[in-house]
Amino acid sequence: MEEKKLTPKERLEIPPQRMREQTPKDRIGNVEEVPFGFTEEEARIEASRCLQCKTAPCVQGCPVAIDIPAFIKLICEGDFEGSAKKIKETNILPAICGRVCPQEEQCQKTCVVGKSRKSVDEAVQIGKLERFVADYQMKNCKPEAPHIKASTGKKVAIVGAGPAGLTVAADVRREGHDVTVFEALHKPGGVLIYGIPEFRLPKAIVEREVENLERMGVEVKYNMVIGKIFSIDELLDGDYDAVFVATGAGLPMFMRLEGENLNGVYSANEFLTRANLMKAYSFPETDTPIVKLRNVAVFGGGNVAMDSARTALRLGSENVYLVYRRSRAEMPARVEEVHHAEEEGVQFLLLQNPTRLIGDEKGWVKQVECIRMELGEPDDSGRRRPVPVENSEFTIDVDAVIVSIGNSSNPLIPDTTPDIETNRWGNIIADEVTMKTSKKGVFAGGDIVLGAATVILAMGQGRLAAIAINEYLSTGEW
Ligand code: FAD
Ligand code: SF4
Ligand code: SF4
Repeated sequence: MEEKKLTPKERLEIPPQRMREQTPKDRIGNVEEVPFGFTEEEARIEASRCLQCKTAPCVQGCPVAIDIPAFIKLICEGDFEGSAKKIKETNILPAICGRVCPQEEQCQKTCVVGKSRKSVDEAVQIGKLERFVADYQMKNCKPEAPHIKASTGKKVAIVGAGPAGLTVAADVRREGHDVTVFEALHKPGGVLIYGIPEFRLPKAIVEREVENLERMGVEVKYNMVIGKIFSIDELLDGDYDAVFVATGAGLPMFMRLEGENLNGVYSANEFLTRANLMKAYSFPETDTPIVKLRNVAVFGGGNVAMDSARTALRLGSENVYLVYRRSRAEMPARVEEVHHAEEEGVQFLLLQNPTRLIGDEKGWVKQVECIRMELGEPDDSGRRRPVPVENSEFTIDVDAVIVSIGNSSNPLIPDTTPDIETNRWGNIIADEVTMKTSKKGVFAGGDIVLGAATVILAMGQGRLAAIAINEYLSTGEW
């Protein structure tokens, strides 16, 4: 299809195409995805906003360096399949990244169009275009497995089937090595499956992306908790020539408040796993329930807190309070998530901090005591430090609390493999370029190294590790 010729000035004048989405009233009654995605016409108009900059600062903002101008140009030309293939040269999970990447902090932050329109919100919507072509390819094109080189006879074990593990699996398999992924849960995807809710990332999309790996000949073994069933040493002494550890940051953090052990207090991980992986929203058709929650307090201001609050609404809660100790400007969650949560009716209790949880005579949480806060001087993170306002305590009535203040690294592998070095937060220490750990033959990447980070950063580390694993297996040099 021929592309219409436009001058840069004309391109700059095209307003961003806004994705149509379910109304807030409709969407809190279901778990379907909120935005509908671009039509072909909308995608081509949005793509025509790109100036095809020679220096392409957007590419430097992408942790896996997708050739962004090239894939956008193919959309302008109407070659949507070609565009998806171009992205897949460097990113095996575009339908996922297009949905969940914090684009406004990465590729879109540096976009020249956004800069000249003086708002990152007006940048070329690279993520939404990526999602469009990935969805188009899934829907309209025949799946094809990438070319796999002749077998090398070498075997690689990957521990954890999240985005980091899956990325390494693809890149190492392509070189002709045998790959086995050991996954503790009964499904692949890591946080993509058990953490991020269906209404942000439909699970069918994750499953389709994983099927592609299986077509490549990657074997995934489920219900395999490494560190319990086999140790890393047993993997290395047995069949495997190299191991990649990608066990993520799945250990929930708590606030150490009085009353945090009461019934009805969930970690965000448990709450979201019940809802997403075990599909509690369709109980009793599925096995795992969540007790009916009328008034819910969610502690935290990040993406996990937004996901928990919005999930609670969809499970029928009448009042969902998001308690956050700083102001909206300091909230770490993506702007889009905050906006969606607010539209759906999540009540933001900003500059307030929980101080204790109060239970009833049967041991169920019934109230949260909070204190008001004000912002003081900036702390080490550069954000203004929240300071309690004396004697400003108050209580809110709740029948559940979801603690969403973050996760730390899974300790099982470091605990059972003492010669793998960790830092003071329990993250595995790995070389920044090769992702080699202190133990010969063992590489690590993703959240287990970075601490709770992002999908694309985990994938970026996976790509680095795969290059180093392939080299190690071909030279034998550590
Ligand atoms: P994970 O995705 O955590 O995968 C690790 C896998 O290892 C899991 O499947 C786990 O079951 C398995 N495992 C653990 N221990 C063992 C063991 N001993 N043996 C075998 N298997 C094991 N990032 C974004 O970019 N955008 C978002 O919108 C976003 N939203 C998020 C929402 C929530 C609720 C959460 C919790 C995180 C979110 N993140 C988001 C962060 C992102 O999901 C993670 O940074 C990313 O998934 C890390 O990938 P990973 O492969 O390192 O680990
Ligand atoms: Fe942007 Fe993420 Fe896509 Fe890279 S992978 S181009 S950062 S949306
Ligand atoms: Fe296109 Fe923006 Fe990248 Fe320039 S910076 S090539 S306008 S997406």
